[in-house]
Amino acid sequence: MATIDEMICALARTRDNAVNELQRLKESGTKIVGAYCLFAPYELIAAAGAVPVSLCGTSEEPIAHAEKHLPRNLCPLIKSSYGYAVTGTCPYFFYSDLVVGETTCDGKKKMFELLEKIAPVHVMRLPQSNNRPEDIAYWKHEILLLRQRLERQFGVVITDSALREQIRQRNAQRSLCRELYGLSRLDPPPLSGIELHRVLHGSGFAFDRPRHNAQLRALIDAVQDAYARGEKSAPAGRPRILITGCPIGGATEKIIRIIEKSGGTIVCYENCGGAKDREYPVDETIDPWDALAQKYVRLACSCMSPNDARCELLSRLIDEYAADGIIDVVLQACHTYSIETRRIRELAQKQKGKSYLSIETDYSQADEGQLRTRISAFLEMLH
Ligand code: SF4
Ligand code: SF4
Repeated sequence: MATIDEMICALARTRDNAVNELQRLKESGTKIVGAYCLFAPYELIAAAGAVPVSLCGTSEEPIAHAEKHLPRNLCPLIKSSYGYAVTGTCPYFFYSDLVVGETTCDGKKKMFELLEKIAPVHVMRLPQSNNRPEDIAYWKHEILLLRQRLERQFGVVITDSALREQIRQRNAQRSLCRELYGLSRLDPPPLSGIELHRVLHGSGFAFDRPRHNAQLRALIDAVQDAYARGEKSAPAGRPRILITGCPIGGATEKIIRIIEKSGGTIVCYENCGGAKDREYPVDETIDPWDALAQKYVRLACSCMSPNDARCELLSRLIDEYAADGIIDVVLQACHTYSIETRRIRELAQKQKGKSYLSIETDYSQADEGQLRTRISAFLEMLH
């Protein structure tokens, strides 16, 4: 029987294994659809018989190549993603039969115009707000346009029952991830922040969903049993940190490492890859097309104006996870998240009475020393 560490490693490796898995799927004739954002309705892509895969770049390596076409003063996530695409070094992009982009922030939507020169791209036009019935109707129309594109390009018919089945499967995966990260409500949390991050990140690259869901179930059960036996991986009482802001992963794992090495414990990730998507399942009781539109347009992303959904979600998570401090991660040149720091600071400090730290970073490791100093001082304050 595998140990908890072995189970975590196996789940964290899901992303590394995804390249071979994609190659195998491609050779067997399966269509691959790359996407750049949480707004891409993966259930719809899967209902077309295709495999959705994230193309977001998290490494500094291809950024210099991207800067030949893109301004330097642009978010590293966009530059990294584009750099991988133009240099042909991203196997996920290479295998993609279609790329789905969404008009989220300005940088991303203009980047898609350049991508169209090297790959088939379908752009979904997001509404700018998500708090009116018209926004949901508009997004449903965009979802139906994506349906048409998938049907036309792949020569398939997407039935309601296939879509319902994909919604059911993906909700099951969301629910397991929620259960797993929900264990961090305990003090001490059973998993470290880096372990939790790697499992959640890997989950986005799980193509064999039933197998992956069984692995998640086994890990949750094993972790709960070990905790009940008193096996704790860290002492209780460490400052409990909630992470919000821009997506993190790859190069920005430096932030997770620094927080935990400096004595903090990460109890919740609100950002993409964490709770932002998984807290809200697709409604299985209504028309599946309406359900997809409602679910995805309400994502608490800073590209929405206003973005009240982020404050509502954060407010609840701060309470549920008994967070002592909120660290708001802003990627360099991300205007929307940068501007929202003011509102999130007010929410954390004035409404919730919690400490707040905003940090700006990029994909280089040059700022590690400075980050360590700021984060250590912040955690010191929380002791
Ligand atoms: S933060 Fe917004 S734009 Fe960026 S990946 Fe997440 S949902 Fe997409
Ligand atoms: S981090 Fe900000 S600038 Fe970068 S892609 Fe996401 S929303 Fe756009």
